[in-house]
Amino acid sequence: MKSVMHNKEDGTCYLCMMLHSDYQRRVNLEEHHVFMGPNKKNSERYGIKVYLCHEHHTGSKEAVHVNYEVCRRLQAEGQKTFEMAYPNKSFIKVFGKNYLEHTSEQESISRK
Ligand SMILES: [Zn+2]
Ligand SMILES: [Zn+2]
Repeated sequence: MKSVMHNKEDGTCYLCMMLHSDYQRRVNLEEHHVFMGPNKKNSERYGIKVYLCHEHHTGSKEAVHVNYEVCRRLQAEGQKTFEMAYPNKSFIKVFGKNYLEHTSEQESISRK
């Protein structure tokens, strides 16, 4: 399934855009499934995946596989996108968890 979150042909890194408003084209993009583990197959099935530069995939402190907060922000985006793209499906039924609720909880903790 093609990504419903991010157009691979754009050549951009999703996290360069999300974190730094950097829309430059990258040469080597790596595909990342936003929901991993047992939900990787659902990420694939519904196109909840993005393209990342190596630094943002695994190669730096800001990488989605390294930085829990970045990972959660991306998952919240993934859930929002799913809900827009598949209005007749329940995200929680498919993925078994509400990532939006978790994110707002975390944000309110870190704001204190
Ligand atoms: Zn990047
Ligand atoms: Zn990945």
